[in-house]
Amino acid sequence: MLSTLSVSSQLNKVLRSHYLSLSQGGLCQATYVWINDSGDGLQSKTRTLESEPSSIEDIPKWNFEGFSTNHSVTRTLVPVSIFKDPFTLDPNKLVLCEVLKNNRKPADTNHRYVCKKIMEKVKDFRPWFGMEQEYTLLGIDGHPYSWPSNGFPKPQGPYYCGLGADRAYGRDIVECHYKACIYAGIKICGANAEVMPSQWEFQVGPCEGIVAGDQLWMARFLLHRVCEDFGVIASLDPKPIPGNWNGSGCHTNFSTEATRAKGGLDHIEKMIEKLRACHVQHIRISDPHGGQDNKRRLTGFNETSNIHEFSAAVASSRVSIRIPLNVSQDKRGYLEDRRPAANCDPYAVTSAIARTCLMEDEVEDLLSDLDIDDLD
Ligand code: ADP
Ligand code: MN
Ligand code: MN
Ligand code: MN
Repeated sequence: MLSTLSVSSQLNKVLRSHYLSLSQGGLCQATYVWINDSGDGLQSKTRTLESEPSSIEDIPKWNFEGFSTNHSVTRTLVPVSIFKDPFTLDPNKLVLCEVLKNNRKPADTNHRYVCKKIMEKVKDFRPWFGMEQEYTLLGIDGHPYSWPSNGFPKPQGPYYCGLGADRAYGRDIVECHYKACIYAGIKICGANAEVMPSQWEFQVGPCEGIVAGDQLWMARFLLHRVCEDFGVIASLDPKPIPGNWNGSGCHTNFSTEATRAKGGLDHIEKMIEKLRACHVQHIRISDPHGGQDNKRRLTGFNETSNIHEFSAAVASSRVSIRIPLNVSQDKRGYLEDRRPAANCDPYAVTSAIARTCLMEDEVEDLLSDLDIDDLD
């Protein structure tokens, strides 16, 4: 078992806490965090600031060496959101950044740039998003954490929201990540053990507009960083284990002032028809590879809908869009888009939902991009 944990996780953590408790004068460590060139993960590096920043304007731009067709290129880091650093503690900061190319245009994986413009256009609707991030813990050997090295654990059934050493694998990580999120200033609203053993979920939200993407990306950073301390890996692969084992999604819950008001269900039903008309477009942005990763997950089995068919229903898990039971009863609230994969870019997902549901004129542009063959 130990050999599946990273070597650095076994370094002496008591020694570490001595050094972390040393005073740092008035200086502030700022760890810049950004989305990598493949759009499926994060990178970070740290610098010293002369004093604690009081707003994002106090944090200077920076840069790093990215790679473009085999040669390195300098990219600019533009700070966009500050969080408290739960690893090195106050006054140190985590700084989420947008990435620009050297021509000042957004990098290819910088979906925040357009998301911000869309959220600005639809801000009068007061759009809220709540995202459910599912993930699977793996050892550094890539094998699901604490699964038998040969064969499989007992079939799915007892693990979802389960407890006990034979049902909940790796809860330390979930609890430490939850605390780290609260300390950092993430609006984390819950966590639970998932259907597959070693699979877990946390939820962020509801957050308005661009903040949803900012918060989920930083919550992912904290997850990967907590896992690093424990010597394991958090995989956002939408279907880490083929066969009759649940995949991982990033269900995206969405509401506006109108859907939250009395009789809002009528608005939700109209939005569902708009989402139906743009199904393929939404599948294409549901993972970083045009829907190819999510194709392994959206089979119509294991609590998913079939990737080729749009469907919607109250309180069903086998649909593209679910109307939660309480929303159907109250006739107001939010809808749940169950299609996004665990490794989706939340900026791409939230901006697509906002465009389709709230920007009438843009729908035709979306449909003209439609290419259903890509999914076969
Ligand atoms: P599920 O039953 O699908 O597992 P969860 O309890 O895991 O649902 O997650 C519910 C999500 O819905 C949370 O992310 C929460 O922030 C979000 N949510 C709740 N109310 C709203 C709302 N009015 N608008 C948007 N999202 C919401
Ligand atoms: Mn959930
Ligand atoms: Mn779930
Ligand atoms: Mn859900």
